[in-house]
Amino acid sequence: NRQFRLKARPQGRIRKSDFDLVEAPIPEPGPGQALVRNVYLSLDPTNRIWMSDMDQYMPPVELGAVMRGGGIGIVVKSNSSAYKVGDQVTGLVGWQDYTIAGETVETGMGVIPKGLPVPLTAMMGACGITGLTAYFGLLELGQPKAGETVVVSAAAGAVGSVVGQIAKIKGCRAVGIAGGKEKCRHLVEDLGFDAAVDYKAADWKERLVEATPDGIDVNFENVGGEIMEAVMARMNLFSRMPLCGMISGYNTDQPMRADFSPILMRRITVRGFIVIDFMSKYAEGSMQLAQWVAEGKIKHRETIVDGLEEAPVAVNKLFDGENIGKLIVKIVDP
Ligand code: NDP
Repeated sequence: NRQFRLKARPQGRIRKSDFDLVEAPIPEPGPGQALVRNVYLSLDPTNRIWMSDMDQYMPPVELGAVMRGGGIGIVVKSNSSAYKVGDQVTGLVGWQDYTIAGETVETGMGVIPKGLPVPLTAMMGACGITGLTAYFGLLELGQPKAGETVVVSAAAGAVGSVVGQIAKIKGCRAVGIAGGKEKCRHLVEDLGFDAAVDYKAADWKERLVEATPDGIDVNFENVGGEIMEAVMARMNLFSRMPLCGMISGYNTDQPMRADFSPILMRRITVRGFIVIDFMSKYAEGSMQLAQWVAEGKIKHRETIVDGLEEAPVAVNKLFDGENIGKLIVKIVDP
């Protein structure tokens, strides 16, 4: 049972040397527990937050502990009525080959229903945690109405790509902000966004103005910093800003500063959220997302890296912008 244990809190970028890769015995499930063979690991920006000891929404990963991470596994032994051998499960599997699943909220995993009309990996992306983040953040906090303009940053990523496509389903104008020509092409040509702004181009702020002729009604914020400020400067009276992430700050220990005056002058509703706030409605959200994926209304792309041993290096793709869609590590064939 290979395990990545956190050795040091990263300074800046994540390094392989921040982890010990150890070989531990495969654990035996106790009463009410099951043994899970992990097959896919979900790499997420929040991994970087958990590695640090910054103020956060869960306890940081302790030094010496197995790195926390979401993923999908298959039940190989079970002493619990909640899991059957062969069940595909999703939850916090950790950066390791095997995990023990329990029956409490903290230790439990969700059994993936059989016969879903979507690929298994979509249960981590478009129909899983990142899709649910887009779904609840946009619909419950953003409250988009047909004809309104929705802007999303990190738009070609796992969350952002779903936000823009749900905005289109709801009859809105969807504008994505992403780094590079290929990502912007993908957003407009493959995913049906109305416009995409390449923030790496010198004139991107003018392009943002052009792309939002009627201002911005919903800003689904994933990045923070300069991008957030440029978007807020275009937001309309009584507009909404679900604050989902601030990835541009995760590799630094500097506090992120922002100008609050647009919030006052244009009475913007800003609300931070973490997808777990909506846990009681996950099943409903997942079913709706799976239906949209099956109908072709939501397209999803994945960047899959082979091998558990690659996790500490591959996770940096999120910060270098090397992923399109959901970033996944394949541990073994399912
Ligand atoms: P993505 O798949 O979007 O990958 C991250 C992307 O962010 C990169 O591909 C890159 O795209 C962009 N990026 C990275 N650094 C910067 C930077 N300095 N400036 C601008 N863009 C940058 O990841 P996710 O979809 O998983 O996550 C997106 C955001 O949503 C993150 O902020 C994350 O923390 C947040 N999140 C929040 C959740 C919640 O419950 N609140 C749950 C899940 C995610 P590019 O090439 O365009 O720069």
